[in-house]
Amino acid sequence: CLAEATVAKVELNAFTELRDEKSVMADVEAAQARWERGEARSPVDGLLFAVKDNICQAQTRSSAASRMLSNFVAPYDATCVSRLQAAGAIPMGRTNQDEFGMGSFGLNSYYGPSYRPGDHRVAGGSSSGSAIAVATEACHFALGSDTGGSVRLPAAFCGVMGFKPSYGRISRHGLISYASSLDTIGLLSGDVGIIAEAFGVCAGPDSNDSTCITSPLESCPLPNETQSDAAAIPLRVGIPVEYNVAELSEDARAAWHAQVEHVKICLGPETSIVPMSVPSVRDALPAYYVLACAEASSNLARYDGVQYGHRAAWSDDFETLHQEYTASRTEGFGAEVQRRILMGAHVLSAEAFDTLYLRANAVRDALREDFSAVFHHVDFLITPVAPGPAPTPEEAAQQDLVQSYLTDVMTVPSSLAGLPSMALPFARTSTSQEDVGSYQLIAGPRQDAKLLS
Ligand code: GLN
Repeated sequence: CLAEATVAKVELNAFTELRDEKSVMADVEAAQARWERGEARSPVDGLLFAVKDNICQAQTRSSAASRMLSNFVAPYDATCVSRLQAAGAIPMGRTNQDEFGMGSFGLNSYYGPSYRPGDHRVAGGSSSGSAIAVATEACHFALGSDTGGSVRLPAAFCGVMGFKPSYGRISRHGLISYASSLDTIGLLSGDVGIIAEAFGVCAGPDSNDSTCITSPLESCPLPNETQSDAAAIPLRVGIPVEYNVAELSEDARAAWHAQVEHVKICLGPETSIVPMSVPSVRDALPAYYVLACAEASSNLARYDGVQYGHRAAWSDDFETLHQEYTASRTEGFGAEVQRRILMGAHVLSAEAFDTLYLRANAVRDALREDFSAVFHHVDFLITPVAPGPAPTPEEAAQQDLVQSYLTDVMTVPSSLAGLPSMALPFARTSTSQEDVGSYQLIAGPRQDAKLLS
């Protein structure tokens, strides 16, 4: 793993920092000794994991890939990190991302863009480095964060699995906030069994996060334990027609058909495939960008360069403290983050609040209702993850804003509804299929364990 990690850091810019090899090896040897003595702490004991740069690790620079926090050393571990470490898992490095989680391509980082392995196309964002780390086998699994698709999209572009749990299943304590009502810590790996075990360790209530789900986590059987059950209980899989958007490429539409057939074979011949309608999905993307920007502008107001974060040098031209704040924020935030703050400040302003912010909230309520109705009739929904293949960095840079925001059209509906969703790779046999080969399964409220099994 460590040799792969160095290559992923140097060639693909997947890591903002790698832990020193000697201390990782010491942890690995200690874990090996525990397994040999029959004293392993958990199934993830000894597994290496990477941590997205917006998830705090004690005594480690935790910067959300922003210049604003490039000098910030976290004083504590995020809950998910401390739980994984207590279970014996070994952090091995911090992964690159879009600044504060804002982006879909992994190109908006203070530390520069990252690329997926093989063809130097974009890795997807914002958890770009976590997806590359897993795809290059630099670690066994990686932590990411998903506000509107940031675990699922890079997982799809890099051909690995990306799991976004229900909102509130994994504590957000220690996650640097983007949009608090949507931010969800998620897991990426090439192995669903590892995702299930690591999720079991991370999930559960936390006194440091009042938005955590408090009901107990269902047990999460591994896939091989459930195969016979799956064949015995016929499942119903819904195809939500609103995801068949005009922007969906022909290849992606063809792949979606093949994926439905594949899922039917996996789940058994009794499985029924049912077309469904989730009408409010049509309004999900604009509603997401209104709500996410509103919350971002509020969350990011704390960065004034005074208590912590980047502080601009004092200039004799400054007459007020406000000018000092402005200079620090202008230097500290990248262009996309500044744009989101401006859009958020606008939608929260007196003139736009009712027409934009409240309307977006109403769309969110409608989505929750529509999805709950649908999950009375089906067990899962199957959709594409992205409307088209991963662009090259040049193609991504040429897209206008609306085009680039459209990349998230398949992932934001389940974020707004807080539903567990997962990106799964499929048909990785030719280059064109590889690009559109992943699909998304969405499960009903709090059905994380069912989705993983
Ligand atoms: N691409 C979306 C955005 O920029 C989603 C990002 C995320 O899930 N963090 O807001």
